[in-house]
Amino acid sequence: MMAALMGSTIEAVLMTAPGRPLERRRVDLPRPRSGGAILETVASEVCGTDVHLWHGRLAGVPYPIIPGHVSVGRLLESGGEVADVEGRAIAPATLVTFYDVYGACGACWQCAVARTPNRCPKRRVYGITAGADDGILGGWAERIEILPGVRLVPLPEGIDEADFLGGGCGLPTGFHAVERAGVALGDTVVVQGSGPVGLNAAIFAQLAGASRVFVVGAPKARLEAARRLGAEDVLDLAEIAAPEDRVRWVRDRTSGRGADVVIEASGNPAAVPEGLDMLRDAGRYVIVGHYTDSGETALNPHRHVNRKHATILGCWGYEFTHLHRSLAMLARHASRFRWRDLVTREYALGDAQRALEDMERLAVVKALIRPGR
Ligand SMILES: [Zn+2]
Ligand SMILES: [Zn+2]
Repeated sequence: MMAALMGSTIEAVLMTAPGRPLERRRVDLPRPRSGGAILETVASEVCGTDVHLWHGRLAGVPYPIIPGHVSVGRLLESGGEVADVEGRAIAPATLVTFYDVYGACGACWQCAVARTPNRCPKRRVYGITAGADDGILGGWAERIEILPGVRLVPLPEGIDEADFLGGGCGLPTGFHAVERAGVALGDTVVVQGSGPVGLNAAIFAQLAGASRVFVVGAPKARLEAARRLGAEDVLDLAEIAAPEDRVRWVRDRTSGRGADVVIEASGNPAAVPEGLDMLRDAGRYVIVGHYTDSGETALNPHRHVNRKHATILGCWGYEFTHLHRSLAMLARHASRFRWRDLVTREYALGDAQRALEDMERLAVVKALIRPGR
């Protein structure tokens, strides 16, 4: 069967430009490069980033692209032996995901001096900043090309694609935000935003030792998910519309002081001053929801930052370590948090357009594309 695929073509979905309907095309299936591999796609996530891509909200995107940055597949063929991070060979047919970032050079100032490869100018991401002309570098396709140097990660025993993609990119991103916040035992944490990043931040805040987690967001289905995942209380933005009332809601639940940690995962600039008002003096505020530029907001430097003695941290993307460790946590806690239940709907490759539009209007928490359908 593998021989039959060589030199053949496979079906992929292309996003040719912002705002244009997605196109189904047959593309050439390459042979794996030395140190690289070809995966048979099992499932790929649909997330808010795909909507941003379709709206043209991200800079430096080499359209046309094959969307789908976080994916799961079976190892079909490799260019020589491929191994996991512990050096164990990965056998054909193993169910794997991979770190979607590649190309960070290790040699530039950002990589080598500042040790922030997440800001390396050469860094590229499958399904986002990888062009369709460079290969099948996105998961909305029947096969995915793994370039040499891209790190494959076998899914842990007992974990399947729905478990992992129920977390999706929100899993390592939420994990990273909680790590960045330095959540401590007994902390009270407010999460602004109830999308996948916010929900995963709520999960990992609890696993990091937070005694109480509150989630501020919308719509209802996402807030119900937050409750199921252990949020003590949720605030529906549609019900409490005035920012000062939302701040009071948090203060009423924290002896008037505000939360120890507030994690912004909403993408709304106005959430930032509001979240700082929800934060206690000397608390920690992490901004992870502004993956795209949604505009400006005004802060009062005296009240929001200086007098408050606040720590404000940005959180850009995630490193391999966050993927690796968040997946280990998922494997350990999948029965408690049931990430797979966050998958609201699954779509065949031919229904990718509908999946994108459902995500655009927040009709789904997490959606999967299953090319094999
Ligand atoms: Zn670099
Ligand atoms: Zn994503």
